[in-house]
This record gives sequence, C-alpha cells and structure tokens, in this order.
Amino acid sequence: MERHKAVVLRRQMFSNTSLELSVWSRRIGWMEVTARGMMRSKNNRLGDVADEFDVSEIVVYRKANSLYSILVEHNLIAPGTALRVDWVKYGAMAMVRDLIGDIWRGYPADEDDAWRVYNVLVELLGAAERMDGIILGVAGVMRVLDAAGVAPQLEQCPVCARTASHNGWILSWKEGGLVCGDCATSRGRSPEGPIIDQGLAGVLRRVATMRIEALTPLRAPSAARVAKLLAALAVWCQGVMDARTRAFEWLGTVLEGSRR
Ligand SMILES: [Zn+2]
Repeated sequence: MERHKAVVLRRQMFSNTSLELSVWSRRIGWMEVTARGMMRSKNNRLGDVADEFDVSEIVVYRKANSLYSILVEHNLIAPGTALRVDWVKYGAMAMVRDLIGDIWRGYPADEDDAWRVYNVLVELLGAAERMDGIILGVAGVMRVLDAAGVAPQLEQCPVCARTASHNGWILSWKEGGLVCGDCATSRGRSPEGPIIDQGLAGVLRRVATMRIEALTPLRAPSAARVAKLLAALAVWCQGVMDARTRAFEWLGTVLEGSRR
C-alpha cells in the first residue's frame, strides 16, 4: 500500500459502480487509478467520492514500477468546487490537465517535476475562485511548460534584444521565445504564428512571472485577443513538443459557448 498526496485530474466511468481516475501524485506524477465500487450508493468503502480537480490524499495498491493502481482509500483535502460552477475555469484547468497529459502521461515524472507540478496545481486550485478563468489557464500553462523545461523566453527579442515592439510579437519556438515583429518578418520570412500586440505580450509576461496569488486582480483581455494568445501558445506547444495539444482549441470552444 502507498499513500499519495494527489490532484484528481480526470474521472471516467469504468462500470456502473466503478471509476477510472487519472491523478497527479506529488511523488510520481501522472497515475491511472481504478476506484472499484466508488459509485455504489451503499457500501462504498473507499471514502469520499472523487471528482475532477479535487486535492486528495489517496491510498493505493500498486505493483512495483507500475503507473496503474487500485484505489484503497480516498480522502478529500480540498474539493474543486470553484470549477464545478464556472465552465471557463473548468475549461482552463482542463487545458492545463491535457497539457500535463501530453508531456507526462505514461512516463513516471522525476521527483522534482512531480513535486513542482503538484504545487502548481494546488496553488491554481486554491486561487481559482478569486481568479479570472483565462488568466488561471494561461498561468497554469506557463508554469507547466516551465516545469517541463520548455517555457518560452519572454523578456526580450532573442534576435535584436529589444523589449518593446510597435509591430507586435510572435511566439517562435525556433528562436526560443517572443520575437519582435520586425525580426520575425525580416528578409521576407513569414512569421511562425499569430502576431500578438505589445499589450498581450505584457499580459503573457506578467502571468508567467508573477506569483499566482498576485494575479487575482488581473482581468482577461477581449475574447478576440484571448483567441490570439491561445493560438500562439498552441503553436508554441506544437513546436516544442512535436505534438498537437488539443486542449487549446477546446478552451476556445468553451469561451465561444460561454458568450452565447
Ligand atoms: Zn527583434
């Protein structure tokens, strides 16, 4: 038996009475857990019923070196209630969850990464109620990329070193970060992704570097500009991971739906 501090990331029905959970363990990262009989109305011996984005302490039975395990006990530390009533916040955390899955699902995370990502999740979830949904999601994405060692460099253009640009910025994975519009289009090159304006680049810098708690007063830019920011991040993730992260498109859809 093993005891893990964990965040429940995904919950699916496994049978009428059992659940299949994906959790992030503070010790080993992404783990699939079967919760047999958790949805029985009587005789659920596993403890609290788990839901997505709960922070919990779990006891599991796990074979050596396996990332699949059987749940023995689930004790809630902090339920993810703020996300159950706000679809943008839920979509934002689902985007962070899917990005984490794209990076670590199927591989044990090293101890430092597991610990860092766990702390990022707990901090985001703790502030979720007071935070703008989009800011929450972008803050999570930037911290997960940082923990994975693939965060973009944002302070200055890596080519010409300027910190302000009238012609906007492009998130270029070939250059390793935010490149000014002039450098991105010099010698007839076409930019690698959508152009984001000076203000948006500023939002991205702040969200990536400020403490999560300090981000609570920040409001998201307009829907059209958010769409550009998400598209730029999607291009970045595709470039650095050579895989398409569908989560960014999904949040775009959620956003559209919430405005109807
Ligand atoms: Zn430049």
